Amino acid sequence: MDYYCSTKFTELQVHVQSRLLYNCCAAYPERVDLDWLEANPGRLFHTDTMLQDRKLMLENSSCASCHHGCYKYEEQGLASLRTLHKTGQRVTDIHAPMTNLAIMLSTDCNLSCVYCSPQYSTGWQKEIKKGGEYNIGGHKIANDNWNNLWSKMKQKERGIDSRFFNLLIKEIKLAKGLKAIGLLGGEPLLDNNFLRLIDHVRDKKIRVTTGLGVSDDRLKNILKSIKGMDITFRISAEATNRHFEFIRYGVSWNDFKRKVNLIEDHGANIEYTSSLSNLSVIDFDRFYHYSGNRKILLNVVGHPIFLSPHVLDPESKQDCMDKLKDMGEHSTNISKMIQKDATTSERNNVGEYLNQLSSRRRIGLDFLPDSFLRWCGVGQ
Ligand code: SF4
Ligand code: SF4
Repeated sequence: MDYYCSTKFTELQVHVQSRLLYNCCAAYPERVDLDWLEANPGRLFHTDTMLQDRKLMLENSSCASCHHGCYKYEEQGLASLRTLHKTGQRVTDIHAPMTNLAIMLSTDCNLSCVYCSPQYSTGWQKEIKKGGEYNIGGHKIANDNWNNLWSKMKQKERGIDSRFFNLLIKEIKLAKGLKAIGLLGGEPLLDNNFLRLIDHVRDKKIRVTTGLGVSDDRLKNILKSIKGMDITFRISAEATNRHFEFIRYGVSWNDFKRKVNLIEDHGANIEYTSSLSNLSVIDFDRFYHYSGNRKILLNVVGHPIFLSPHVLDPESKQDCMDKLKDMGEHSTNISKMIQKDATTSERNNVGEYLNQLSSRRRIGLDFLPDSFLRWCGVGQ
């Protein structure tokens, strides 16, 4: 296997609340040592671990962070983030400057998307607190000590006023090659200091990744304040109607479409980020046609594995393949994602998860194909 990935040499994700550094959303993180960073200004993107990982890559060896994010999936014949976003770019200087920085402000989020978890969303944290943990074939969805601690703290104490946030702003000023900044959540539009942060990075290209789980008033105020700035809204969605509402639990399809129109009416750029799971890949063709000519960035759900696109019955897979013919550049990637056969435990686990979700959230599953429901034992 060729272990090289240019993302390791160009990109960084920072989780402000938990002080974690990732090279991409899939990689395994490291926790930043604030005393070290203060003593070593300008090295946020060049920690000892990151330099070592890059060296290993150049020697064509595996590193723990990317094994967690990509290699272990590729070893099983599955798609990974690096195979999906391969650019052909080859940076070989382990001290190369960071060009893209994504900042996760906090875990505040009104949604609890099916493949997400309390680690990223307070919506999920509340659901677990109310209904208890999930344990699906050993995969746990549970609140950890950090979630419990943060839920007792105000947003201000958790995020943007922290020592780490102030160091991060200094690092951004020192990062001479930095071209683009992404703002992520939770839901970044819910963060009370969203506009203040934008103020610090207004000379960069800004991308806001949002699930649109915010009120109309809040969205309108934000849109008014950023009018004329070079900001792209990267909207998370991959399905339509009831599929969408089940996957992106907490926002209705009509509400979502209205908010997309609101953003467009204010003249902001829109693109989509679609995380394909087995639940969304069967409706993705409808979403693709809804999206019109807007750009769609594909991601693949690899965790939990029972929500991966390949965990589908043969009939649904054939149906997907038939629809792929109309989906241009996405066809090849999607057909690779669904190719592998599901294992018996993946099949049983997706059935178990759907049964539990549907009963806790009181949502019927009749929008999913009959063949799929029968195959994974839903409702039996
Ligand atoms: S986890 Fe994957 S996409 Fe991310 S840096 Fe590593 S190899 Fe690249
Ligand atoms: S909108 Fe994002 S953070 Fe919120 S639940 Fe969905 S995937 Fe998680």
